Amino acid sequence: MNKFLDYCTNTDLHATVILPGYCNAKCPFCYDLPQNISDLDYIKKLKETLEQIPDNVRKLAITGMETTMSPFFDELLDLNKYFKDNKKYDFMFLNTNGFLLNKYGSRIGESFDSINISRHAANDEDNYKIFGTNTVPSLYDLKEIIPELKLESGVNINTVVTDDLSDEEKMDKIYGMVDASKYIGANSLTIRFEATDRLRTEPLIDDLNKLETLQFNANPGCKFWLKRINDLYVVLKYVTKEPTSYSDWNYGYIVQRNLDVTRDWAGCKKHTLTKKL
Ligand code: SF4
Repeated sequence: MNKFLDYCTNTDLHATVILPGYCNAKCPFCYDLPQNISDLDYIKKLKETLEQIPDNVRKLAITGMETTMSPFFDELLDLNKYFKDNKKYDFMFLNTNGFLLNKYGSRIGESFDSINISRHAANDEDNYKIFGTNTVPSLYDLKEIIPELKLESGVNINTVVTDDLSDEEKMDKIYGMVDASKYIGANSLTIRFEATDRLRTEPLIDDLNKLETLQFNANPGCKFWLKRINDLYVVLKYVTKEPTSYSDWNYGYIVQRNLDVTRDWAGCKKHTLTKKL
């Protein structure tokens, strides 16, 4: 199984860094806000913070608004390359809408194992409409740029299927996204069903249930099914917005923009970390 699928389908502890910065898009459902910080030592302090996180955390995700637009992205690539060369993590990936991937090219593959590209629709015009910009890459752009990134574990495409769609429309979107992912050369597709505060109890819709499940897993914040659809690995998942709301589960180590390390996305439940000597 490739490393991105392994990341999606197990509950190993991971660290996630929320990079300060901005976004080129204006998605109507976005709940994040552009937030920069003026600390020129941010990357140095981020390294010190990550070094305080326990060594059994073997996976690192970089997220934010549009990560490639962060004023710290260039330096972050160097930091991740250092971690990669020193085998600090078993797997590192970047969340992005694809905006500046062409600018960074193979530096991305030197610093990450995989990238997770958000896409809201299979078709470019609808995708631009939902992102509120045509600065996100087209399918053709992605097909051209992905081999240039030299990623060991390739690319995952990530999309959300909302509740306002009928079952038939949901299946159309899923099959459309499968075709689009295959066209650009992605290794897998992650379909997130609309997030709710509590983990959903209902099963998948009938047409998805009929497809063989290769793997099923659940934890207090996420429930997922791994399937193969038209020869592509597809992870179908229900996720809570805030995985620690209803349990004391240690979801992971979320490094907030101010470098607090918390168990929750909102930044309220702090981990107590001690400096390693
Ligand atoms: S791409 Fe992500 S961060 Fe940017 S507006 Fe859309 S949802 Fe928000």
